[in-house]
Amino acid sequence: MLYLCATPIGNLEDMTFRAIRILREVNLIAAEDTRHTRKLLTHFDIHTPLIRFDENCKAEVAEKILQRLQAGESVAVVSDAGLPAISDPGADLVRLAVDAGITVCPIPGANAALSALICSGLDTSKFLFAGFAPKSNKNRRDFLQRLATVDATIIFYEAPHRLKNFLTELLEVFGDRQAVLARELTKIHEEFLRGTISTLLDTLDEVRGEFVVVVEGQPPQVVAPTETVAQVVERLTAQGLDKKSAMREAARQFNVSRREIYNTLLREEIQ
Ligand code: SAM
Repeated sequence: MLYLCATPIGNLEDMTFRAIRILREVNLIAAEDTRHTRKLLTHFDIHTPLIRFDENCKAEVAEKILQRLQAGESVAVVSDAGLPAISDPGADLVRLAVDAGITVCPIPGANAALSALICSGLDTSKFLFAGFAPKSNKNRRDFLQRLATVDATIIFYEAPHRLKNFLTELLEVFGDRQAVLARELTKIHEEFLRGTISTLLDTLDEVRGEFVVVVEGQPPQVVAPTETVAQVVERLTAQGLDKKSAMREAARQFNVSRREIYNTLLREEIQ
């Protein structure tokens, strides 16, 4: 049996009774970072042998694990936090185990994405987990553009040092939607920052801790059949908004990115 075992994402009390029992009973625990996991195991008085299983060694270690599973042993996979195989190693091993006819068993528990979603206040009836955006600029832009039309709540993971850039790009591609930053989930400084992407960017000065970004899906299209983009921008500037804010508001009303508003304005001016 291959167990996929959740571990806490910040609060040790989120370890489940079942996870402790399974981790004690299996022959081997495959862990993303053995030093990190050893601390957790020591805390819960678990003395099962550990093997390192991370992105760098997964091909070779997966083979060893598979052999032991085929010999009738049981193995548990854990990541540094939360559910293995969710933006963490584990998925490849599950595929190999399934192909080899080995039974795979979930030991559920903490997960950052779902914890953020359920407290977001956004629609939970339909959601898409998008994980980490690609690091390369071109791939990230393509990735966001493909997600921009999804009409379900979207959940992203992001590293703190990339969060501001990510939100800036999200604003450009998605327009100014409602979003929630779930910070330091289950830890002492847990907090939820809610607002439009632009207000979140304005309020966020120091980015510390771990974050999940939850964004509303593409809102129902607001059709403004009687006004062109140029007319909407002109009306908003006449109402006192500067050009940048008027374009941002027009982007929100037409539910497109600011870049699209800019391009449309250029086209309309040429015609
Ligand atoms: N497997 C984990 C899970 O099930 O949630 C996710 C691991 S992924 C490598 C790490 C990312 O998850 C972080 O960059 C952050 O976006 C999110 N994350 C993990 N723990 C978190 C926490 N306590 N609070 C907020 N976000 C967290």
